[in-house]
Amino acid sequence: MKGGLPFGYTSASVAEIRENIDTEAAVVCLKDTAVDHPRVLIEAFIECIPDLLSWLETNGRDYPWRQTTDPWKVYSAEILLQRTRGDAVADIYDDFQDHFPTPRDLYEASEEEIREMVHSLGFVNHRTRTLKEIGELFVEEHAGKVPDSLDELTRPWRAGTYSARACQLFARGEPLALVDANYSRVIGRVLGYQMPDQPHKSDDVYELMEALVPKEPGLARAFNFAILDLGALICTPQNPRCETCPLQNACVYAGKQQLTD
Ligand code: SF4
Repeated sequence: MKGGLPFGYTSASVAEIRENIDTEAAVVCLKDTAVDHPRVLIEAFIECIPDLLSWLETNGRDYPWRQTTDPWKVYSAEILLQRTRGDAVADIYDDFQDHFPTPRDLYEASEEEIREMVHSLGFVNHRTRTLKEIGELFVEEHAGKVPDSLDELTRPWRAGTYSARACQLFARGEPLALVDANYSRVIGRVLGYQMPDQPHKSDDVYELMEALVPKEPGLARAFNFAILDLGALICTPQNPRCETCPLQNACVYAGKQQLTD
């Protein structure tokens, strides 16, 4: 993986990014959505990615789970982050890892111990059962290790696709796209793509996002963090701060694209 922690490779040139993105696949995906001028939009987006990665290096959120590629620390953090603010998770993250440094420690803990650890995050019953189920599955079927496959990581049914993909991406360097509300909003606005109501359940959305994620692991890491953080900090649901956004020159929503037939 190029680049270091927390963000990965943030100083790539346009040429390096172009080598690592499947432009043709992205254009085809976008064409299928009936967006006009898909190639112009994708090319403009690629041109802005170096600025996006520089923005991440300066403004990205440096959470403790971004300082590791340990699969358990990454995956368990994603469970804690479900429907929860990063700052709230950061408050208990070190304690959680001290108490449950491996899936086996979680497996051997009582529900009460787990509940006490996560109570400040809310959704306590849901989260406790999720963590307990994960501990059981990983110990009983994977010798206490975090399985190295998306299918296995999504087997605890409350864990979800997002957590599984985040683990494979951030811990194991697989160039996957994370599709959540922030991510979909940013990509949808930039490319003028009307996202479906539940983008995380759309194969078409995953196909487009996956084509856009650079293949080099350090770049894939940086790209995903950049889109996530931009969605949280700049491209917010209401009143996005387009004038400070590194993607503004490529963005259909911001009106900077001059698209003519
Ligand atoms: S220019 Fe505005 S709408 Fe477009 S991605 Fe940036 S913040 Fe979002």
